[in-house]
Amino acid sequence: MEALSFVCWSGNSKRDNVPIQEAGVMGYFKKELARRQAKAGGRRWLFVPYDQLTDQIGPLSREDPRNLGIVLVETPWKAARRPYHKQKLALILANLRHFALEQANRGVAVRHVVADGPYAAALEPLIPELGPLRVMVPAERELRADLKTLTEKKSIVFIPHEGWLSTADQFGESDAKAPPWKMDSFYRFIRRKTGILMEGEKPVGGRYSFDVENRLPWHGKPASPEPPSFPRDPIKEEVGELIGRTFARHPGQLDLGALPTTGKDAEKLWSWAKAECLPLFGPYEDAMSHRSRSLFHTRISSLVNIQRLLPSRVISDVAGMTLPLESKEGFIRQILGWREFVRHVHESTDGFRHLPGGKTQIEKTPGDGGYERWAGKPWGMSKKAKGPDGGAAPCALGCDTPLPPAYWGEPSGLACLDTVVSDVWSEGYSHHITRLMILANLATLLDVRLRELTDWFWVAYTDAYDWVVEPNVLGMGTYALAGLMTTKPYVSGAAYINRMSDYCKLCSFNPKTDCPFTSLYWAFMARHEALLKTNPRLTMPMAALRKRAASRKKEDQEIYKRVREILAKGDNVTPQNL
Ligand SMILES: Cc1cc2nc3c(=O)[nH]c(=O)nc-3n(C[C@H](O)[C@H](O)[C@H](O)COP(=O)(O)OP(=O)(O)OC[C@H]3O[C@@H](n4cnc5c(N)ncnc54)[C@H](O)[C@@H]3O)c2cc1C
Ligand code: SF4
Repeated sequence: MEALSFVCWSGNSKRDNVPIQEAGVMGYFKKELARRQAKAGGRRWLFVPYDQLTDQIGPLSREDPRNLGIVLVETPWKAARRPYHKQKLALILANLRHFALEQANRGVAVRHVVADGPYAAALEPLIPELGPLRVMVPAERELRADLKTLTEKKSIVFIPHEGWLSTADQFGESDAKAPPWKMDSFYRFIRRKTGILMEGEKPVGGRYSFDVENRLPWHGKPASPEPPSFPRDPIKEEVGELIGRTFARHPGQLDLGALPTTGKDAEKLWSWAKAECLPLFGPYEDAMSHRSRSLFHTRISSLVNIQRLLPSRVISDVAGMTLPLESKEGFIRQILGWREFVRHVHESTDGFRHLPGGKTQIEKTPGDGGYERWAGKPWGMSKKAKGPDGGAAPCALGCDTPLPPAYWGEPSGLACLDTVVSDVWSEGYSHHITRLMILANLATLLDVRLRELTDWFWVAYTDAYDWVVEPNVLGMGTYALAGLMTTKPYVSGAAYINRMSDYCKLCSFNPKTDCPFTSLYWAFMARHEALLKTNPRLTMPMAALRKRAASRKKEDQEIYKRVREILAKGDNVTPQNL
């Protein structure tokens, strides 16, 4: 099914950029919305983007619902820009529709628009009727860029986004404001500023971070919690049908039972996370297992990033819970520290378009994350998919390897990679360490094109949006920004993966003898020695590299070349063909 046919989901118009009010294939949703709909006249209208689905902050939280109207937009144009995982499309569409009904129930007037074009084109025709629309500053740069023409004309008015826990001014006050950006400095600053986990001037427990205590591998005990499932309902079913019919060419499995889509579902997930995950969140934070996709991670990121769960709420709940301090602090650091920090870095550099020391390359159009190489056909972004550019493509170390088809699910023979990739295409999720130490690690070791890797993460994960995926991939997971966000590349050989996971037990390679990760690690260090040798955090590996026999170094480079070639063809790496 081609992108252009998406417009048929409305069944009405094939004209470009024309908002279409009727939606033939959303019978149940449309009927329910009409049934609950209040009279629209005499209201102040807000535009609510797909990632602001909350009435706990902003005008929806304090203005009389009888005086308020909201505009919600569904546009196949957005879906066509990249080969997004089906589960991600379903998550957004079903939450948006449920939110529409929830707000109509409160007496808020809801204008639900389906349009085949950019958001600005969808909203512009509504302005004469509804007046200038207020919107909390969109988190995604891509949406801000899309709306630029309307904000310039004051047809759209940005108001502060109240979902963040810190402001740009506060980021500017902290020591982290200038590159190299340091999360730890920002985190200490924001703990002091907010008083969260503080006793007067001092951090609770005498330290700001208990990270060093949180490095246990997991051997099957204590049992890891089974993630909750969420009831199917007619909205979900309808979205499922829509995905099956209109978005069938998108990759990934659709699992409606695993999809939280209502306010109630969000509460269920959060209650599960608090009771089942958080007590052991800290100690096993870095562990990986093929027997448990999330271990003691909370799985809340997709809902936090669309504001179904508010960061302020999860932080205050956790701060008030009785939990081991290493778990409590570990979790708070992720939300109050990392999540806020990456957003500030992204915003202050305009999505890495402005970096110290020169101009960054900007891709003209959105990338497909290597889809074409895997699928054997272009993604075929609709001509209508013109819009904001495809993002910054910094690459400090040089990166010329195309992302291997293994990331799209072709077996690679590397059990760690294949397990995590399969998790991702099953449900659009894997936890932090798998993203960092398997997917980003291997890509870095192979000198993969890092913009392509970023686009892959963007399409594959249900929690990915430019403000969070770009800093995490380009700044943290890889060394695309050199030392601007991390003090060293997060790379490892097989020893780390074997220590922290049980993947190696499934593998035809032996992590202690012939695993290619170890050779790739040394080959990476040798290739980039000139740039890395002065890094004080790499003193030991650099010393070890210098002592490594010339024959081993030669072998490392040969293995690097062979692994690259084999994976590029979509073949299996085996002990025999290395
Ligand atoms: C290469 C790479 C790509 C990533 N891409 C994304 C992404 O697209 N979207 C995304 O939300 N996170 C991303 N992360 C961060 C992190 O991996 C996910 O937030 C986390 O795995 C989500 O799972 P969880 O809800 O079970 O998290 P938990 O481990 O339970 O953590 C709790 C919450 O903390 C927040 N958090 C933790 N780490 C980060 C971080 N580094 N940046 C931002 N928020 C964080 C999330 O909201 C998360 O839900 C990425 C990390 C790496 C290394
Ligand atoms: S042996 Fe190597 S390739 Fe296989 S799972 Fe372990 S680290 Fe991965």
